[in-house]
Order: sequence, then C-alpha cells, then structure tokens
Amino acid sequence: MTIQAAASRVPYALKGKRVWVSGHRGMVGSAIVRRLAQEDCEVITAGRDSLDLRNGEAVSRWVADTRPQAVFVAAAKVGGIHANNTYPADFLYDNLMIEANVISAAQNNDVEKLLFLGSSCIYPKMAPQPITEDALLTGPLEPTNDAYAIAKIAGIKLCQAFRKQHGADFISAMPTNLYGPGDNFDLLKSHVLPALIRKMDDAKREGASHVTVWGSGKPRREFLHVDDCADALVHLMLHYSDENHVNVGCGEDLTIRDLAEQIRTIVGFPGGIELDGSNPDGTPRKLLDSGLLRSLGWAPRIGLADGLQSTYEWYIAHRDIALNT
Ligand code: GDP
Repeated sequence: MTIQAAASRVPYALKGKRVWVSGHRGMVGSAIVRRLAQEDCEVITAGRDSLDLRNGEAVSRWVADTRPQAVFVAAAKVGGIHANNTYPADFLYDNLMIEANVISAAQNNDVEKLLFLGSSCIYPKMAPQPITEDALLTGPLEPTNDAYAIAKIAGIKLCQAFRKQHGADFISAMPTNLYGPGDNFDLLKSHVLPALIRKMDDAKREGASHVTVWGSGKPRREFLHVDDCADALVHLMLHYSDENHVNVGCGEDLTIRDLAEQIRTIVGFPGGIELDGSNPDGTPRKLLDSGLLRSLGWAPRIGLADGLQSTYEWYIAHRDIALNT
C-alpha cells in the first residue's frame, strides 16, 4: 500500500476493536485506558511481570496470541532531568528495544493502526519557540536527555519507515511535559511538577523553613494534564493518518519559579523557595506549537490551576502508594 492510500484511512473507528495499551500502568497509559472507556472498544493489556517489552520474541508471541487491531505505544522508560542525566544507557537501550519490538510485532501481525508516543525533548535545545514539528533534527539536542530523545526520534522514524515501506497506518504524537494522577513522585527520578508537589507537601508536614528548587528557576516549561493528553491521543487515533508526527500541548508555558509559587499556594506551604544552581537547568524553553493538532479539531480542557489542584488532591489521597512506587 502507498503512503497516499494509508493517508486516506480516516476517520478510523475504535468501536468494537481490540485495543492494546502498552504501558497501561504508567501515568499516560492508565489515562488512555480511562479515556478508552468512552469508545466501546475492548482494551487489552499485558502486565510487566508477564511480558518484558524489551524481549522481542516474547512481544512477538504475545501480539500473535492476542491479535490487537489498534495499539497505543505508551510504554517507555521515563524520568526527569536527574534520572535521564544519570542513566543514559537505560533510557536509550530500554526505549529502543520497547519501541522496536512493539512496532515491528504490530506490523507483522496486521495491526490496523498504531500510535507511538514520544516527547517534546526530541527537538533541538535551541529550537525556535513555539516549536513546530519541522524543527526536528535541525540542531543539537539538550545533553541532559539526549539518550531518551534519540530513542524517541528513532521511534518516529520507525513508524514513518513502516508506513513508507509497508503502508502501515502508524502515527506518532509528541506530548509536552505531562502531569496528573499516577505520576512518579520520587525525588530523584520524577519530573519537576510532581517533585515540587512532594517537596512542598513534605516541607509543610515537617515545618521546614524552605523548599529547594533545582537550577535557576528561569527555564520555561509547558504542562498538559494527562487526561487532556489521553483525549488528544484518542482524537489522533480516530482522525489522523500521516507520516508527520503531531505535537500535543496546551500552548502556554511558565517559568519553573512561577510553577513553584503556584504549587506553594495550592499546597499551603508558608515557607520560602530557595534555588539550587548546582543542578542543571536543561533546555531553556520547551513550548510546543500545537497548531496542527488544533487544526484537527482538538483543544485542551483542563487549565493549569485546576490541574494542579486536582493532582495535589490525588497525591494526598494516594500518598502511601505514590511514595512507594
Ligand atoms: P525536563 O523538562 O526534561 O528538563 O525535565 P524536568 O521536569 O525534570 O525538569 C524541568 C526543569 O525543572 C529543569 O530546569 C529542572 O532543573 C527544574 N527543577 C527544579 N526543581 C526540580 C526538581 O525538584 N525535580 C526536577 N526533576 N526538576 C526540577
């Protein structure tokens, strides 16, 4: 099948389909599962204990046995700036293996449609802002997460190659920084937003005088609630079929310092904020241009203030689990 033929396959219907959400225990995967409850489809999942996605033979066997018709590739090794900077081999190897195994097994077992999830860190460190999809591979990457970025760029290219060579209807979406229920709150492995919720909440409980925020506080980041992200991904699954990857963002960013202030207010921590410049800033700004997604008829619904409030409430209600995963 040609690229043109593949591009004409929208709208795609999920109704009545067997849909594999890989990575269904993660923050994004579990949000996709929640969102798919509205689609009248059969969601299938594989637990980490029963299927190691880095094992190609096991993945081939599982896909051949379960025969999904649509696949969301939400499985990935993810982490914040410290984890990415400390474990580049794991971030590169695990992600390359997971995506290569899942995407090739989907092709070999006639999966009708696949959506691969990447990240906004695929773009050059100094990409013009807001970042359009065509900024990909136009300059050097941010060194603190280049291993993860290279793996995710390879995943996009794999989907494009399967589309070009085999006519596979495989698409890619690049979400901005995500947050919400089910996030990782580990102080060394998490992203900034859950890290600051935890730090502020710990400091309030302990009566500490201040909370430490890494870096200069000046980098700007865009944050999208994971339920909005899952809604956008399902929208793309239904309405998009082309080789170009699609940015998924809300269109607004703020400084890390402002984020810390907002979280301080929501948590009700009365102390101060101290900046620790010995930790890296990473990319100075990451704001996606999500014009392509908007033109496909999707818009976000959860503003940052509401999203932070509900995420903090989720954290308080699940603190024991969140601190032990
Ligand atoms: P990034 O978007 O890939 O850089 O990932 P992060 O979410 O880990 O970090 C975003 C920014 O927040 C960086 O400039 C970090 O230095 C800064 N930051 C401030 N405090 C923290 C923290 O406690 N944890 C993390 N992960 N980042 C922090």
